[in-house]
Formats: sequence, structure tokens, C-alpha cells
Amino acid sequence: QHLVVAIDGPSGSGKSSVSRAVARELGIGYLDTGAMYRAVTWWCLEEGVDLADAAAVEQAAREIPLVMGTDPSRASVQVSGREIEDDIRTTRVSEVVSKVATNTGVRPVLQQFQRDLIDQVATQTGGVVAEGRDITTVVAPDADVRVLLTASVEARLRRRSTELHGHAADHAVEATRDQIVRRDADDSTVSEFTEAADGVHLVDTSDLDFEQSIAAVIDVVRR
Ligand code: C5P
Repeated sequence: QHLVVAIDGPSGSGKSSVSRAVARELGIGYLDTGAMYRAVTWWCLEEGVDLADAAAVEQAAREIPLVMGTDPSRASVQVSGREIEDDIRTTRVSEVVSKVATNTGVRPVLQQFQRDLIDQVATQTGGVVAEGRDITTVVAPDADVRVLLTASVEARLRRRSTELHGHAADHAVEATRDQIVRRDADDSTVSEFTEAADGVHLVDTSDLDFEQSIAAVIDVVRR
């Protein structure tokens, strides 16, 4: 019996690190779907594909020689054999990734790719934790466990700021605020994340540390 766990949430909710840790603890695979939108974005920038040319970007999403690592202990994203795990996290990519994510031709292509990967990884490792923005609603609405990870804007700001600057000093928090608010606005076409869809368990991590967040999700899985 394969276990499919779908986790959605906004940036800064701790979604990626928590999802990865949950997969590790359960001994199953992990799929970071945001990394796939990032990889297509990176590939377009690399190949000189105009992000405003919707058809060309959709074509890139169909043709990208993308290999997603699904081992929760070792993050890996490869294009044509080149490791791009670090390249896809740069500001250069983060600043324009929503142009790719809001491309209505790209989404079904990556969503189908994600469904195939989820099936494949679940079969190979006994299960998978798939994480993103539309996993509980569109990619895997029939997942065994569906979780919406949320956190207050303030909590997300603190985390992002610590991630980026190694501390949560006021000036660093301010520098991050615009970025987070802008990303939320750009992503709002994907989902609002204010309330969980039917059958989706809401986990608010605002007042939880990393270990507590992992425990809260594991708790939902074991329920
Ligand atoms: O999770 P991460 O911040 O890496 O995702 C990068 C971008 O990809 C998000 O800002 C969002 O625009 C998009 N995304 C999406 N659907 C998903 C996962 C990510 O549209 N399932």
C-alpha cells in the first residue's frame, strides 16, 4: 500500500524543509514541485526564451530534459546532466518564476509530469511526500493525506529573513518584506491559501519551531 502525502502552502511557511523531513522520517520519497517551475524558468533564461512568449515557454516546459531527484536526504535537480539545484534558488530565477507559474499552457504540462513522478516514486519507495501550491487541489486531490501548511505573514518574514541573512534583525526583515508580499501577490493567481479545501488538514506553524512542525504533520499522517 503506497502512501501519498500532499502538502501545499505559501513561501516561508516552512513547507519545503518540513516536507523533506517528514519524507525522511517516513522513509519515503520527496517531490518539490516548485523546483520544477524554477527549473523551467532557469532553462528559459539559459536558452534565451522570452518569458513573455507564452507558447515558447510552454514548448520549453514540454521539452526540458529535466531529472528530478526524489531522495529527501539529497536535493537534486538536473537538466541535461547538469546539477542546477543551486542555480534555481537564485534571485534571478525567484524574481521571474511566477511568469512561468502563471502560464496556463505550462501548468497542465508540469502537473501531468508531477502526477507521473508521484506514481513512479510511490511505487519505488512505498510512498511520496509531494509539496507545492496546487498538490492538494489539482495534482493529487485523491492523496491519502492532504495538508495545508500556513504561517502568519510575520512568522514567514522572520523565517525568510533568517534564511537569507542568517538573522532576523529589523533591517533584514524589512528588506525581505517587499519580496514576500510581492511573491504572494504574484502567486495569488495560483491559490489564496487562506483556508483549506474540503478534507485538507490545516497546520499553522506560526508558533511552532521546526521539530514541532514536523511532528504536527506526522501526527496528521498517523491519524
Ligand atoms: O516553492 P517555491 O517557492 O520554490 O516555488 C517557486 C514558484 O513556483 C512559486 O512562487 C509559485 O509561483 C510556483 N509554484 C506553482 N505551483 C506549485 C509549486 C510552485 O505555481 N505546485
